[in-house]
Amino acid sequence: MKTITLGKSGDQPFKIKGIGVSKVHATVTIDDYGRWIIADYNSTNGTFVRNETTGELMRVGPQGMQISEMTFIVLGADNSAGCCFYAKQLINPGDYVDEHLYMLSKKQEFDKEEDKVAKNARWVRIIIFAIMLLFTIGTFVYQYGFNNGNTSSDLFTIYRGLSLLTMGASSFYDAQGKRAKIMKKRKLFSQCPNPECDRKLSNDEIENLKCGRCQK
Ligand SMILES: [Zn+2]
Repeated sequence: MKTITLGKSGDQPFKIKGIGVSKVHATVTIDDYGRWIIADYNSTNGTFVRNETTGELMRVGPQGMQISEMTFIVLGADNSAGCCFYAKQLINPGDYVDEHLYMLSKKQEFDKEEDKVAKNARWVRIIIFAIMLLFTIGTFVYQYGFNNGNTSSDLFTIYRGLSLLTMGASSFYDAQGKRAKIMKKRKLFSQCPNPECDRKLSNDEIENLKCGRCQK
């Protein structure tokens, strides 16, 4: 079993950045079974870990929480103003290979989600267009084929109603809202893995597995 103290006077293998970090802020314990437990040590501004799915930061209490080597930890603020690092830095400082690969896999996950939204939005447009086309043709066939060119006002009322309805259908699939959600997740998962660098990495940097500023 091994316990690492995190904080301004902690024994983590990197310099603590962030004004909100207490002297003794939190502990990470790796037990004999290889389980990682993080616990807050009555810190002033809190200890947080990132949710793997949503990217949101969750507060860690003094009772502790099980994490993995790839858990993203933030000390002293519930945003990037805190001291941010991946748990793995505590045992393997300065090596960011796994972190970059993790960020890349997340990026690819979001790319896939975005593709799906684009595909669905395209289908919605195609279906709306097909319905409109069918009713336009139907209206003309009825008017000239069966009604000797006389306009049936009832039919046009129905036609106009359907046009509005199909237009409204496109708002049922909120592609823009879905894209905004993915964009937000991208930001939450793009923090540079180096604890001394607080940059959000661009898509290109994530693809290249390297931060442009700290070159790590
Ligand atoms: Zn960096």
